[in-house]
Amino acid sequence: MVGSAVCRRLSQIPGVRLITRTRDEVDLEDESAVRELFRVEKPDAVIFAAARVGGIEANRRYPVEFMTENLRAQLATIQAAYESGVGRFLFLGSTCIYPRMAPQPIREEALLSGPLEPTNEAYALAKICGLKLCQYYRQQYGVVFHSAMPTNLYGPGDNYHPEHSHVLPGLLRRIHEAKESGADHVTIWGSGTPRREFLYVDDLADALVHLLELDDPPDWVNVGSGVDLSILELAELIAEIVGYRGAIRTDPSRPDGMPRKLTDISLLRSLGWQPRIELEEGIRRTYADFQRSLQAGLLRSA
Ligand code: GDP
Repeated sequence: MVGSAVCRRLSQIPGVRLITRTRDEVDLEDESAVRELFRVEKPDAVIFAAARVGGIEANRRYPVEFMTENLRAQLATIQAAYESGVGRFLFLGSTCIYPRMAPQPIREEALLSGPLEPTNEAYALAKICGLKLCQYYRQQYGVVFHSAMPTNLYGPGDNYHPEHSHVLPGLLRRIHEAKESGADHVTIWGSGTPRREFLYVDDLADALVHLLELDDPPDWVNVGSGVDLSILELAELIAEIVGYRGAIRTDPSRPDGMPRKLTDISLLRSLGWQPRIELEEGIRRTYADFQRSLQAGLLRSA
């Protein structure tokens, strides 16, 4: 989802030559394949959007894969980029790598200031290593390797797996199916009280290009919308957009995860960027894309 949005944004800039590879073409966990890719293509800049990602349930169930696959892929790519002479590398972290009880809204300084949220600790530790490795390369070798910390993302091309997806695509699908089947209620996981912030993926892509255009970007910078809502409010908003009028129930047997995750985006604003696509508009666009993909048999659900 992120990679496609970045390509959409970069393709609007004249003179940019995009170099992309699918997972089948280059396995980023395969060090020699990654080295060969850099040797052949010699990119000027790298945006590292590849990762094993997933929602609260996938993270809880597969911590080994979340840690090992992310560590291997990012290490191979960051090292190969440096060795082949790349001067600019933008690594994608995530706001879920901040401590569980970080003061809200979360500022960049909160990184490594306290214990992590247990439901995504493995992913967070892997991402923290990648972000720190970029910082160390910059310190030690003077290359501009830096990171962005996106909040919860959503948009066209998301993963709609019923168990492994993030909350927004998960609920969009479940509420759409409840409407289609005429179900009198839908159930959302957890208590419905955790608060989350969401950013439309094309806004993220635009922010990444903005960061790449800065000569001296911060080592890491939050990229969010600066606005949050409860999971129950999110479900109600999705139900309104989908046109579902049944009841919404909660399921306390499912984990809540972090009580709140809202980023402070004042650093990014001070660098001259701000979000444009509001949540309601973004969900409408995403729902339209969901329906198109469903009809075409192309819904991602992995
Ligand atoms: P998180 O932001 O890392 O916690 O990841 P998620 O996006 O998976 O979950 C956010 C919150 O939404 C958690 O409190 C979940 O329990 C809650 N939630 C409610 N319904 C769903 C659902 O259908 N799928 C997912 N993934 N989360 C849900």
